[in-house]
Amino acid sequence: MSDFNAPRSTGNKRKNAGRPKSEAQKVLAANAGHKARKRFGQNFLHDGNIINKIVRAINPKEGQNLVEIGPGMGAITEPVLEAAGALNVVEIDRDLIPRLRTQFFNYPNFKVYEGDALQYDFTQLIDKEAENPAPLRIIGNLPYNISTPLIFHLLSYTEQHLVQDMHFMLQKEVVDRLAAGPGTSDYGRLGIMAQYWCRVEPLFIVGPGAFNPPPKVDSAIVRLVPHETLPFPTKDHNILQHVVRQAFSMRRKTLRNTLKTLISAENIERLGIDAGLRPERLTLEEYVKIADFVAENPLKADDQ
Ligand code: SAM
Repeated sequence: MSDFNAPRSTGNKRKNAGRPKSEAQKVLAANAGHKARKRFGQNFLHDGNIINKIVRAINPKEGQNLVEIGPGMGAITEPVLEAAGALNVVEIDRDLIPRLRTQFFNYPNFKVYEGDALQYDFTQLIDKEAENPAPLRIIGNLPYNISTPLIFHLLSYTEQHLVQDMHFMLQKEVVDRLAAGPGTSDYGRLGIMAQYWCRVEPLFIVGPGAFNPPPKVDSAIVRLVPHETLPFPTKDHNILQHVVRQAFSMRRKTLRNTLKTLISAENIERLGIDAGLRPERLTLEEYVKIADFVAENPLKADDQ
């Protein structure tokens, strides 16, 4: 059950309770000598309770195709690897790579890919020879500075049916946007496209004290599970993305204004949608209706 709205974990002094004491200490010890890099969004988890809670939410098992983005000092890596026996990781900070290899040298199925997750081709982790290749389970305490483009990048793999699920730590504000429904100020392109592809489950909130260095804002864990059957399939999701981007380019303007280069106000009304609404009032289903109309009736320059 989700405790997203329950009082948050503060990452307080009881951080080692429920876990062998040495766990958080090991992470902190490994931390020694590495200066957290702001440009890589490095806030390392050190709260044993929170690490446990995240790993329980992921529920890693042997035989699964797990990949972690940004393992850092290995706070989540270690318990996940312990449970699953195999893990791929993608890490951009080359100073952390030898440390990770050393830390997990006794796991033959631990593989490190050095590079930028935004550029990384995750299809290479799918065993193309296998009859039923295991889909990806993507996890990560994501670097906050690139979390939105990274989520868009990863949604493209759900489209190819390559993903079983994703568990991320994000800024709470980003999780709020992922889960937002119409009529709220958090509702926008990120939530609409994430909900187009996935069921979005906010799980729990994590306070700044769980990290070293502590970030300035609250974080939260979210689970994204690709829909088996899309609830509102569109003819062309690139057009859906384009319509939504354009609609939200000016949040305070009405659809009649923001979408006029794509669809006329009369045609919006013909779809049963009030063209005088602001973009945050429309449901995903209504955006799909507009996108499908645009896909079939592209406006020529002289129609505008
Ligand atoms: N997983 C660790 C933890 O929970 O303590 C570290 C999390 S830290 C918030 C983000 C991690 O992502 C860092 O290890 C950072 O170096 C890495 N990172 C940042 N940008 C990245 C990128 N573009 N591709 C892959 N890893 C990246």
